[in-house]
Amino acid sequence: MKTIQLLDKKFALSIPEEKILEKIALVADKINADLADKNPLFLAILNGSFIFAADLMKKINFPCQISFVKLASYHGTTSTNNVLELVGLNENLAGKTVVIVEDIVDSGLTMTKVIELLKSRGAEKILIATLLFKPSALQHDITLDYVALEIPNDFIVGYGLDYDGYGRNLKDIYTVI
Ligand code: 5GP
Ligand code: MG
Repeated sequence: MKTIQLLDKKFALSIPEEKILEKIALVADKINADLADKNPLFLAILNGSFIFAADLMKKINFPCQISFVKLASYHGTTSTNNVLELVGLNENLAGKTVVIVEDIVDSGLTMTKVIELLKSRGAEKILIATLLFKPSALQHDITLDYVALEIPNDFIVGYGLDYDGYGRNLKDIYTVI
């Protein structure tokens, strides 16, 4: 079993790149069949989705746009609640079909917030394409339109996903042990 160390944690190889790419190809096939005439904007959520977005987009076979955004949270002045904001979204979303490209859906909170933000910017239809999904961790009512891989509720790194900033460059996915 191949293991690696990142900071204080050990991880074991769980999903090799070959299998990841196979599953992404299946997602791309579905998107190509569903959205070729929809002129969608793909919106990748940084940092985690950068490798997934690159591999997915190379397999999309119709003209389309991709943009990259980051989620920033800040404290509102009159509220103790964290407010989420999408940084880097310059596109006009009015009437657009938007495909969110996400690394992993865990509780579903992040996707719920992103959907809210995109709706408030006028997006007409919002779809979610996620590399990974932890079904047993889901707590929010969201529909995932495209899922490459379902995984158990364990912490993973690699292929864009990090542990405290490290591990994003690993070509395979590793699970904490
Ligand atoms: P959610 O809002 O769905 O609970 O969590 C989604 C976010 O949590 C992801 O975008 C990702 O940043 C982080 N996350 C959830 N599970 C994992 C994991 O196993 N590994 C890593 N590296 N990040 C995770
Ligand atoms: Mg993320």
